[in-house]
Order: sequence, then structure tokens, then C-alpha cells
Amino acid sequence: MSSHLLPTYARVDLAFERGDGVWLTATDGRRFLDFTSGVAVNALGHAHPHMVAAITAQAGKLWHTSNLYRIPEGERLAERLCELSFADYVFFQNSGTEAMECCIKMARKYQYVSGKPERNRIITFEGAFHGRTLAALSATGNKKYLEGFGPNMPGFDQLPFGDIEAVKKAITPETAAIIAEPVMGEGGVRVVSHEFLRALRKLCDDNGLLLIFDEVQTGIGRTGDLFAYQHTGVTPDIMGLAKALGGGFPIGACLATAEAAKGMTPGTHGSTFGGNQLAMAAANAVLDIVADRAFLDEVKRKGLLFKQRLAEIRDRFPSVVAEVRGEGLLMGLRMVPPVGEMVDELRNEQMITVAAGDNVVRLLPPLIISDEEIGEAVKRIEHACARLAQAHPRQGDPAAKQGAVA
Ligand SMILES: *Cc1c(COP(=O)(O)O)cnc(C)c1O
Repeated sequence: MSSHLLPTYARVDLAFERGDGVWLTATDGRRFLDFTSGVAVNALGHAHPHMVAAITAQAGKLWHTSNLYRIPEGERLAERLCELSFADYVFFQNSGTEAMECCIKMARKYQYVSGKPERNRIITFEGAFHGRTLAALSATGNKKYLEGFGPNMPGFDQLPFGDIEAVKKAITPETAAIIAEPVMGEGGVRVVSHEFLRALRKLCDDNGLLLIFDEVQTGIGRTGDLFAYQHTGVTPDIMGLAKALGGGFPIGACLATAEAAKGMTPGTHGSTFGGNQLAMAAANAVLDIVADRAFLDEVKRKGLLFKQRLAEIRDRFPSVVAEVRGEGLLMGLRMVPPVGEMVDELRNEQMITVAAGDNVVRLLPPLIISDEEIGEAVKRIEHACARLAQAHPRQGDPAAKQGAVA
């Protein structure tokens, strides 16, 4: 494969030319079951008629005018997002990392205009992922991603995940905020306990800190609620969104309470493309469908059904699957053999998935998936596990003796 694309991705030699619901058609004509969804982006699958109609109608009217003028489509989207969440204000960008940059800037500015400029440090957690721009990378704290890119951006204190005593000890008079993902997606589909999130909320309240949730991956229905925080009993002050918000069109958003946003006055932040008419049309169309409680209840139901089937697979193939994790349709299998082998086996089954940290394969179907398609996925996962069980037998493993599944 030779290409002029900067080689920062170890790409699979596979390209797709069209999509339809949860199915992708490769350039060689093969059809794949999409359990990646562009990494939690295509919530409504591919070529959803409502999305196609909304984008097409907007494309014929107006794409972009800049933020120097009012953008009614964006005012409408912001109003809807605020009605559906804790927030009073929304700032639109084009990606998840930009959304998190806005969250970070806003939290520092809040402390500054509250007369506490020394409060500019932010507590983050190991295994989190917040994006690839320099501040978001420093918040992420992954040494592999930071190496060679010069000095780490100061002002982040990274702590072990789930250790509330460590958080208490790390809070100083310089702490401004805490950033957490309700479910760590890239970090291996690790569901953060509600108790831990509640304890973070209390620490923030007691110490005058802002609580920031990174819902870039969990937001917009993925976990069975519009936002994952909604079933934790904990409300953040600031929240980052992106991935599924545009259903495949690039868009990010930073949502905040009026109090948290009080320092963000004219001139303090900006974006050329952020919130343009085309992006707003895409996101409004996504919300038309995903924000419906009946749709979200279906995501929950399908998530439970899928999780149950995955648990059966884990029981049958203990030498292959160590653990089933996740909420809603953000599912993960912690593998016994290297996760890359599972991703490859599933691709051989014409099902695409994506690896995460902690040796986990993420299973992220479009939220519109049917029960039948879940059944089809389960069959393919069983086949992949059967082959891996043969390659990695363990004594007393019935699947290894049987050899293959029916
Ligand atoms: C993907 C992701 C990001 C970064 O989003 P980009 O659009 O790639 O910049 C940030 N936070 C979380 C939790 C993510 O999953």
C-alpha cells in the first residue's frame, strides 16, 4: 500500500464505498457488519434517510457564514441540547478534542473571574482519553501519545482511576476542576462506578471546583440515555460532546451551566467552522431521532439483550473471553489472547470492530441495529471465538474439545 497520507495510522487494507444501516459495502463488493460506527460516530448507521434528507436540504440552501452573524439552526440546536440536559449554554466546534479544550479553558476562566486565578490545575484519571491536541493530550496523560512532542502542557494532575482518597489528597488551593469520563471508552470500556462519580461531585462542591464530564464517546444515546451522566445521579458543570452528535458529520460541543460559563464573554473563545449551518442541520437531524425516549429505551433493551448473549459467549469460551463490559450499546469484551487477534478474526467474519485499552475489543453498532442484526453479530462473534479457542486451548475448556460451533 503506498499513499501520501501521513502514516500516523496503521491502516487495514480495506476500503468501503457505501453504507446502508449497519452494513458497509467494501470496494471489492463484500458486505461487512459495522460494529465500529466510525468509532461511536454513526449513531443512525449509514445513509439514514432522515440524515440524507436533512443534509441534502441544507446543502442546497447554505453551508457556512461564520460566527460573526446569528445562525438560527445553531440557536435551535443549542436550545434543544440545553432543554435535554443540565446546561444553559453551548459552544460548537468540529471535534471531540476541541470540545475538551473548550471545557478546560472554561474551567480555568471560571476560577479566574471568581477571583481565584491560582486555581488552574485540573485533575484527570489514568486510562482516560480526551483527544490529541496538546492540552487534551496532557489531560489524557498517555506517555505513548505525548513522547517526542516537547514539554507536556502544565496544569494537569493525573490520578489512578477509582481511588477517591487519592483525589482528596491531590486537591490543592491550585485545583480548578476534575475531568472524568462516565464510561472510559478508549481506556477499555471501563464503567466508572456511580459511587465514585458521586464522591467526585461532592469533592467539587465542597472545594469550589468544577466537575467536567467528557461524554464525547458516551453521549447522544450510546449508553441508553441521551447522556451517560443521566443515569449516574451526578450532574456535571461542564460537558464535552462530539462523536455521535453529527451522526458522521464533524461536530463537537461544550455544554455548561450559566455559572460555569460566566467567564466566557465576547472575544474569549472562537472557531471559524464551529456551528456552521451544515453541521447544525446534521446534529438537529440526529436529535430528531435519538432524543426520543422510546428510541433510547430501545437502545437500553437491545444493549441488555446483546450483553446477555455476550455473557453466554464468555461462559462458553473462557480461554478467549475474560469479561463482558459496558452499558447500552457501548460494549466491550476483555480478551484473553491479544485483542488484535479478535479484531482480525471478526474482520474475517466480515464484521468490523475496534480495539481499546486493557486488551478490550469494543463493540459499537449503530444505535438503530435490529434484534436480527444483533443475532447475526453474535453468530460471527461465536465463530471468531471458536477459532481463537482452537488456537489458544485451555485445559477443561469444552469449546476447545468440541473444536467448532454449530
Ligand atoms: C474520541 C474522543 C475524544 C477526541 O475526539 P476527536 O473528535 O477525535 O478529537 C475525546 N474524548 C473522548 C472520551 C473520546 O472518546
